[in-house]
Amino acid sequence: PEALDAAALRADFPLLAARGDDNPLIYLDSGATSQKPQAVIDAEVEFLTTTNAAVHRGAHTMAADATDLFEDARETVAAFVGAQPEQLVWTSGATAGLNLVAYSLSNASIGRGAPASAPFALRSGDEIVLTETEHHANLIPWQELAARTGAVLKHIPVRDDGTLDMDAAASLITERTRVVAFTHVSNVLGIVNPVSEIIAMAKAVGALTVMDACQSAPHMPLDLPALGVDLAVFSGHKMMGPYSIGGLYGRAEVLEALPPFLTGGSMITTVTLDEAAYLSPPQRFEAGTQPVSQAIGLAAAVRYLDGVGMSAIHAHEERLEQRMRTGLRSIEGVRMLGDTDRSSRVGIAAFDVEGVHAHDAGQFLDSRGIAVRVGHHCAQPLHRRFGMTASVRASAALYNTDADIDAFLDGVSGIRSFFGVSS
Ligand code: PMP
Repeated sequence: PEALDAAALRADFPLLAARGDDNPLIYLDSGATSQKPQAVIDAEVEFLTTTNAAVHRGAHTMAADATDLFEDARETVAAFVGAQPEQLVWTSGATAGLNLVAYSLSNASIGRGAPASAPFALRSGDEIVLTETEHHANLIPWQELAARTGAVLKHIPVRDDGTLDMDAAASLITERTRVVAFTHVSNVLGIVNPVSEIIAMAKAVGALTVMDACQSAPHMPLDLPALGVDLAVFSGHKMMGPYSIGGLYGRAEVLEALPPFLTGGSMITTVTLDEAAYLSPPQRFEAGTQPVSQAIGLAAAVRYLDGVGMSAIHAHEERLEQRMRTGLRSIEGVRMLGDTDRSSRVGIAAFDVEGVHAHDAGQFLDSRGIAVRVGHHCAQPLHRRFGMTASVRASAALYNTDADIDAFLDGVSGIRSFFGVSS
């Protein structure tokens, strides 16, 4: 792909463009949330100032226009991940999407949605396979589901270099496995997991596959139907879009068979005082008033990403990551999590600095205008695996430049001497 011009793209992001040389912001926290281009802000404002109305109801013209914009947004965002509009359920984010799936399976397990959902019922002793690298959002909903059904959790271990132990995966995924849930890209390691292999293993035993695409969707081309995954989630605010909007993608047969999680208005066909019949997906999973302006903003975000080009974005960010990792390797006392050349990656580098707490390191970088995240990044088990409680994480996006990375590396190289840790 043609190389993108990150310095020029910064002009599209008002928050970044507003910061001049006298008040620099080196924003390396896009893994937590990305900045928003003007086109996204404009799309939401435009909707709210010209077309704001409740969708899928109301006899008036503006309600019909709002509905069209909302459903067009669904089509745009679905297409961004290679999907059809009816395969995309709006959620408030990845956490909501994963909980939706886990609660839907829970409902299937107590016979709701039967007989269509019967294949998804979990029984005592059934196994749910996760990885050791999961964000808490793809861990705790499964712990809760296991507790409710008697299912047992298994975890694919991570090797010292941050890659998944696929030999272990091959022996963990068995006829007892009912669900395999895994992240496409860890929000700490930045390594692109061999998800096709995992999906093939799961399919071979008839297990449902659930993928967390939070850290891949903003950074690389994604074709979910081609990948063959059953269900996948992503968060709008990490992909240049608004807060409180995300997507749950599902294969048509899977969504068709799953019972709803939240229930209420807008997801039913007929309701009596004693029971209700539900709409087909995606509306079956969209109870209540939806995040309409946010969906329209997210459509603008994916149009922006497509305009820049996902292959160009991936190539740019891989290059930035390479620059970060090479630089970090040469700084004494710095230990990266997932320091491997064996994988494709996104622009994430997490590390600790010997003798300095991650929070101190983060504050020192902040004093130099460098925004990073510190802590466990909602991945406590992964940090524990590497003998850490916290790390510093730099995460890049399309608007980061080589100069950003160099300033960051220069900052990191000054941390130990600032805190008086001798080499
Ligand atoms: N999974 C991963 C890999 C993430 O990075 C995040 C956000 N940090 C989430 C899930 C949760 O996303 P959200 O908070 O937007 O629901």
